[in-house]
Amino acid sequence: MDGRHRTAKAGRDGKRKRQLAGNGAESGAAGNGAAGNGAALHKPLGLLAELTHRCPLGCPYCSNPIALDPRGDELDTETWARVFTEAAALGVLQVHLSGGEPGARRDLIAITAAARAAGLYTNLITSAVGITAETLRKLADAGLDHVQISIQDSERASADHIAGYEGAFVRKRALAAEVVRLKIPLTVNAVMHRANIDRIGAMVDLALTLGASRVEIAHVQVERAAVEVEELRRRHHGKIVIDAVVPDYYARLPKPCVGGWGRRSLNVTPAGKVLPCHAAESIPGLEFWSVREHSLADIWANSPAFNAFRGTDWMQEPCRSCARREIDFGGCRCQAFALTGDAHATDPVCHLSPRHGEVGALAAVRTEAPYDYRRM
Ligand code: SF4
Repeated sequence: MDGRHRTAKAGRDGKRKRQLAGNGAESGAAGNGAAGNGAALHKPLGLLAELTHRCPLGCPYCSNPIALDPRGDELDTETWARVFTEAAALGVLQVHLSGGEPGARRDLIAITAAARAAGLYTNLITSAVGITAETLRKLADAGLDHVQISIQDSERASADHIAGYEGAFVRKRALAAEVVRLKIPLTVNAVMHRANIDRIGAMVDLALTLGASRVEIAHVQVERAAVEVEELRRRHHGKIVIDAVVPDYYARLPKPCVGGWGRRSLNVTPAGKVLPCHAAESIPGLEFWSVREHSLADIWANSPAFNAFRGTDWMQEPCRSCARREIDFGGCRCQAFALTGDAHATDPVCHLSPRHGEVGALAAVRTEAPYDYRRM
């Protein structure tokens, strides 16, 4: 989020100023009640609104689930508006309008206006394919605060190949130029991996050329990118913010995944299911509630999925008696399940996990399989 931009916009919007002032979570205050499982209930800060799973691109590393929600199951405009109002009342400050490609929704402008009317900071996460300059101008008029555009490589042919869409790179550059022309803060999202890792510096140069204020680098599988990122930060200090996520495979300690399960954020799927994180459906046996049947406040406090790993009572050793248990919350539940078959286990990324050695062995595996594009 661009802090300067938010301050300026909020200054024109009394409703949002009151909301920012009234959110205890923003200042790090403890919870404001108890969840259905007895754990402290914190206020969520962010809502990921997955408006649709439809997308013209086919990036092989897409984080959407394997079973995508069909168009006919998507929530309508009015339901999204209610969700945004309930989210703001719950304490949420910012909404990420995402997908799939949110531009596939014909009502994206109305959805954005509804989020803004609810007092939320609005961030559009887009492939840029499917959003015209005219649509962008209407989104700006509707109050859009920030845009993130994913760019797959700094070279056109490679970028289009990774995205599985001929012409995507040119369209991304064109929309990025429009975003900057409209004075909307721009972030470039770059996923770095074996096909583009040699151009990590060129990706940052491209983001600077486009006028982005921030570039977010996600490393899928390459350790040496972390070293280059440090050098790039020194070189471009003061010109662009470079955020980078270190791959878990090379860490000794896990990240506090989603800021702690059921603690800081929630995701709403295109069909209305509410998830503690976007991968939560990969854990079998969890019961997710839908905004079609429950209010967001009820789901946040009482849904079985949110309470499954909220607090620390669910933890096993070594997490249960560890001094870091309320710092990293035992790491990622989905990763723990994927690597051990037990979602209650310590995330094997942690060096204290008895399964930690397996992570290094997995990271050492190299395959040259052709891309398996994500298609609906
Ligand atoms: Fe975190 Fe658990 Fe490792 Fe302690 S043992 S550092 S709480 S993952």
